[in-house]
Amino acid sequence: MYNAASLKAEEFISDEEIRETLAYADANKENVELIDAIIAKARERKGLNHREASVLLACEIPEKLEEIYALAEQIKQDFYGNRIVLFAPLYLSNYCVNGCLYCPYHLKNKHIARKKLTQEEIVKEVTALQDMGHKRLAIEAGEDPVNNPIEYILECINTIYSIKHKNGAIRRVNVNIAATTVENYRKLKEAGIGTYILFQETYHKESYEKLHPTGPKHNYAYHTEAMDRAMEGGIDDVGLGVLFGLELYRYEFAGLLMHAEHLEAVHGVGPHTISVPRVKHADDIDPSAFDNGISDDIFAKLCALIRISVPYTGMIISTRESQEVRERVLPLGVSQISGASKTSVGGYAEPETEEEVTSAQFDVSDQRTLDEVVNWLMKLGYLPSFCTACYREGRTGDRFMELCKNMQILNCCHPNALLTLKEYLLDYASEETREIGEAMIERELARIPNPKARETATEHLKRIGEGKRDFRF
Ligand code: SAM
Repeated sequence: MYNAASLKAEEFISDEEIRETLAYADANKENVELIDAIIAKARERKGLNHREASVLLACEIPEKLEEIYALAEQIKQDFYGNRIVLFAPLYLSNYCVNGCLYCPYHLKNKHIARKKLTQEEIVKEVTALQDMGHKRLAIEAGEDPVNNPIEYILECINTIYSIKHKNGAIRRVNVNIAATTVENYRKLKEAGIGTYILFQETYHKESYEKLHPTGPKHNYAYHTEAMDRAMEGGIDDVGLGVLFGLELYRYEFAGLLMHAEHLEAVHGVGPHTISVPRVKHADDIDPSAFDNGISDDIFAKLCALIRISVPYTGMIISTRESQEVRERVLPLGVSQISGASKTSVGGYAEPETEEEVTSAQFDVSDQRTLDEVVNWLMKLGYLPSFCTACYREGRTGDRFMELCKNMQILNCCHPNALLTLKEYLLDYASEETREIGEAMIERELARIPNPKARETATEHLKRIGEGKRDFRF
């Protein structure tokens, strides 16, 4: 029944295969010989399949875990270097016809404030985001064919790209909206989106149906097969994710990797990103109502194992996580984080007060400003990047993966990070952040291996200093 190349959800995410995988992992969690062989395979940087990775997830031998963490750090260094790409979510509308039990946007919630941004309000939100220094957004919306039809989403994308406030610009819009049709995915592609992101929430079909009792999202197959339709519609950067806390994490982890293997088998390219959200408190949502919450230790283990299992897939951590947790998982393989996020509709231009009826999707743990996040990253030795070059240069799907596989990041992504950081420092940073950043750019410039690339980057940096913007490799 299990078939990674099938286009049927229940065949490429086979419940039977996951159960057998978990039994195999349990039976082998102390099998040091096998564990060593799996770690040795991961060391070759070719990734692991769901069975192999599940054995490592089940393994609790301290020395082996140390090896896994060290390897995750090494792979992250080799493929991504010290860059961390920054983005912000932009909530367009919280009208929703679904009944998701973990989300306060569910239809029956009558005490949340329902809002939908007008195009004028989008101008205000995006201006506020540009004034912070953001260049990359992930737009979010509830599912509501009447209030948020695809035409509304397309109009919003158009507006977002058209706004140019001072030196600001949004250069990449990623989209996190409900599963839709091939035709709509094609329209999103034509509107110039970056990644299409859709969280599976849970790969466990029975739980999925219970957690989504009503609305179009109830349909497990339609949701699970969405990425295939997105790819058919021409979108070749897709982002997967599981909402950890809903189901057993080991089940979800196997499902997530099977989904990645499926995309590779059918489309020849794996997911562009994987997100690892955990259920958070929200308006009428109490995370303790779900039995499968995971500890920070397990969370870190999952991040490290994702890194070594799919080395070419970016990993995203949102502000659902605290500064402390983010600091812990950054070295284990995270490549993108959000900063200064607001999860309410209209929250950037007009932050909601404590007294107001909220429109937010969940509570944000990391509440720092973008300047504080940039400053903190640099103090930890990370290079904050506002780069959006790849998809604008047509490096999507397997073309981006090639860059990563050929370890060309230091000659391409690294200089792009320096150029966009320079723009940020000149246009938006506090004095202290600017000082730290200028020193960092000096140091990092010397690390570009190719002399020609280093020379070009130096020249571009000079031009940025003279007021020019938007150079890229
Ligand atoms: N409505 C779209 C959909 O169904 O995919 C868009 C996604 S929604 C705006 C973004 C994601 O937030 C959801 O996919 C879900 O995983 C996550 N989310 C919902 N409620 C949450 C909560 N209480 N805590 C943390 N994340 C939550």
